[in-house]
Amino acid sequence: GSLLPGLAAATPRQLTPSVREDDVVHQIERMRKEREQRREVQARTRQEREQVKSEDPGNPNWEIAKMIRAQRVQMESQPVKSCIPNGRAKGHQIVVCVRKRPLRRKELTDREVDVVTIPSKDTLVVHEPRKHVNLVKFLENHSFRFDYVFNEDCSNATVYEFTARPLIKHIFEGGMATCFAYGQTGSGKTHTMGGRFPGSQQSSMDGIYGMAAKDVFSTLKTAPYSRLKLKVTCSFFEIYGTRVYDLLMPGKPQLRVLEDGKQQVQVVGLTQNAVKNTADVLNLLEMGNSVRTSGQTSANSKSSRSHAVFQIVLRSEANQRIHGKFSLIDLAGNERGADNSSADRVTRLEGSEINKSLLVLKECIRALGRQSSHLPFRGSKLTQVLRDSFIGGKKVKTCMIAMISPGLHSVEHTLNTLRYADRVKELSVESMSPK
Ligand code: ADP
Ligand code: MG
Repeated sequence: GSLLPGLAAATPRQLTPSVREDDVVHQIERMRKEREQRREVQARTRQEREQVKSEDPGNPNWEIAKMIRAQRVQMESQPVKSCIPNGRAKGHQIVVCVRKRPLRRKELTDREVDVVTIPSKDTLVVHEPRKHVNLVKFLENHSFRFDYVFNEDCSNATVYEFTARPLIKHIFEGGMATCFAYGQTGSGKTHTMGGRFPGSQQSSMDGIYGMAAKDVFSTLKTAPYSRLKLKVTCSFFEIYGTRVYDLLMPGKPQLRVLEDGKQQVQVVGLTQNAVKNTADVLNLLEMGNSVRTSGQTSANSKSSRSHAVFQIVLRSEANQRIHGKFSLIDLAGNERGADNSSADRVTRLEGSEINKSLLVLKECIRALGRQSSHLPFRGSKLTQVLRDSFIGGKKVKTCMIAMISPGLHSVEHTLNTLRYADRVKELSVESMSPK
C-alpha cells in the first residue's frame, strides 16, 4: 500500500497538463477580478463624490438624497457591483431587461439625485419621494425583477451580449427575432441601439445594430451555416404616426403597407440593400441615421416621436426565400403617450398613436408568451409591419430593453417604463431566488 493513499493515483504525468491549464485559467480569472475591483473602487469614489454634492444643504433635494443613502445602507447593497449578469435567461423566448444610464454631466452639475438602486443582477429599486398628509417626507421603495438589470457601468457591448447576441444563432436556425429599445426620450435608446456619441457623430460599430451585423457576417462563415448559402440584405425604415418612410432612399419616400388575402403584410417598395460585410451595413446605418435625425435625441426632435426599424434579413441564395430575420427597433419615446396636455392637435394625435402602438406591442408580446393564436397586430402600424416576427410559435424570439434615466426628475416616467416592462413579462418579486 501507499503511505499517501489520497495521492496514490495521481502520477506526475496526469497532473502536469491540467495544472498548466488551471494556471492559465487562474491567471485570467485573477486579472479579471483585479480589473473588476479597480473599476469598483473608481465607481465608488465617483458615486461618493456625487453623493456629497447632492447632499450639500444648498441642494433643494438634499433631504431626499440623504434618505436614499440611508435606504441603500439598510439594503446592504454595494454601491456598484460587477455588471456582468448571470446567464439565467439564455434560451428564453421572451427576455425583458432594464438598462439604467449614468447621470449626465449636466445632471451632475444640476445636482440631480439618483433614485434608482440595483441591489442584484436582476432586481431594481426605485426610491420615490412622497409626502405624508402632515407633509413629512418619506420614500416609497418600488421593487422590480427582470431577466437582467444593467447598471450604469455596463457598456453597450455587455448589454448586447445578453440581449441581441443570443438571437443571432436563432435567425441562422431559421427563426424570427426582434429586439426593442423602450423608454422615455433621453433614457438611452438611440445610444444603445445606434452607438455612443463620442463627438457629434454616432459611432455605429459600438451600437447593437452594428454589433449584430458584425456577428451575422462572422456566423455566416462558420459551420454548419456556411453551407446554407445565405445572403444578407438590410432595410431601415421609420414609422411616424401611421406612415412608413424608407430611410435608405434619398428624400425619405413614404411607403404603403399592404396585406394580401393570406394575411401577408408587405411594405411596398421597401429598399432591401444587399450587404457583403459589416462596413456595408455601417454605411447604410450612417445614411439612414443622417436622414432620420442628426445626433442625440432632443426632447422635441422628430425622432423621439417615431419608431425606427432596422432589419437584417437572411435569404437563401437559391430561391430568395426568407430564411431568418432580425428586426431591431428604436421605439418612440413612451412619454409621448402622455402628451394629452399639448395645445397642438397634431402633437396630441401623434401622442395617442404612439401610446396605442406601444400598448398593442405589449399585448402582442404577451400573446406570444401565452402561446395564444390571437395576436392583435392590426391595432398599430408597428405591429402590423412586424407581424411575421410575431407569428410562428417557437420560431419567434423577442427581447425588450427598457431604458431608464436615473434622476429624481424622471421618477414618474421611470416607474411607467418599469411597469410596462413588468407587464410584458411578469416575473414575480416573491419568487426571487436567494443570492
Ligand atoms: P433616447 O434615444 O432614449 O432619447 P439617447 O440615446 O439620445 O436617448 O440618450 C440621451 C443622452 O444620454 C445622450 O447624450 C447619450 O449620449 C446619453 N446616454 C444615454 N445612455 C448612456 C449610457 N449608457 N452611457 C453614457 N451616456 C448615455
Ligand atoms: Mg433616440
